[in-house]
Amino acid sequence: MAPHESAALYDHDLELSDEGIDATDVHNIVPIKGTGQPNRSEAEAAVKTLISYTGENADRSGVLETPKRVVKAFDEWFGGYKIDADGLLSKTFDEVEGYQDMVLLRDIPFHSHCEHHMAPIVGKAHVAYMPKGRVVGISKLARVVDAFARRFQIQERMTEEVAQTIERVLEPAGVAVVIEAEHHCMTTRGIHTHDTVMHTKHLSGVFREDTNLRREFFDALR
Ligand SMILES: [Zn+2]
Repeated sequence: MAPHESAALYDHDLELSDEGIDATDVHNIVPIKGTGQPNRSEAEAAVKTLISYTGENADRSGVLETPKRVVKAFDEWFGGYKIDADGLLSKTFDEVEGYQDMVLLRDIPFHSHCEHHMAPIVGKAHVAYMPKGRVVGISKLARVVDAFARRFQIQERMTEEVAQTIERVLEPAGVAVVIEAEHHCMTTRGIHTHDTVMHTKHLSGVFREDTNLRREFFDALR
């Protein structure tokens, strides 16, 4: 990852110093007092500036409504900031009839965006925990993944955030999270490493201590 990231930062510096950018549209953008968060029309104006930056005519009929559509898409792609991830796991069930084994939800599909290029990160997450009395509705694990995916991300942090939320709220005997994803900033630009998949994992508690359990977990992912 290191060469990719250093190249990315270098590109960014070049873009900032490029005198070819027409920033006239941006001058009217004043952050809302107190929040610093621009409103919808200000966000649309920023998208229009980006379209013009490519050399495209932003007033051409085909792209005229694009800023509106992009901002609407942003509401969905980055809607995770409005989700209380801890709250998703707050409703638990104690009546598990003595169930004392790993709970695993594998192949949870997700779409995220890298915080360095806003390029898609597309992949799947596998989430497991060893209950200590309390279990949670299984779909809630997928919703926790979704809550963190729909933010500006790096895969390493997303892996930690998913795992730590489960640890904090459910207080299980152990948590295991594996994420495998394709980063479009890497596969569609620069050295074009198609089909390169990045793997990250977080293992804690019994998943770290118990070799057999760990093997059982990774076997289940095959
Ligand atoms: Zn990136």
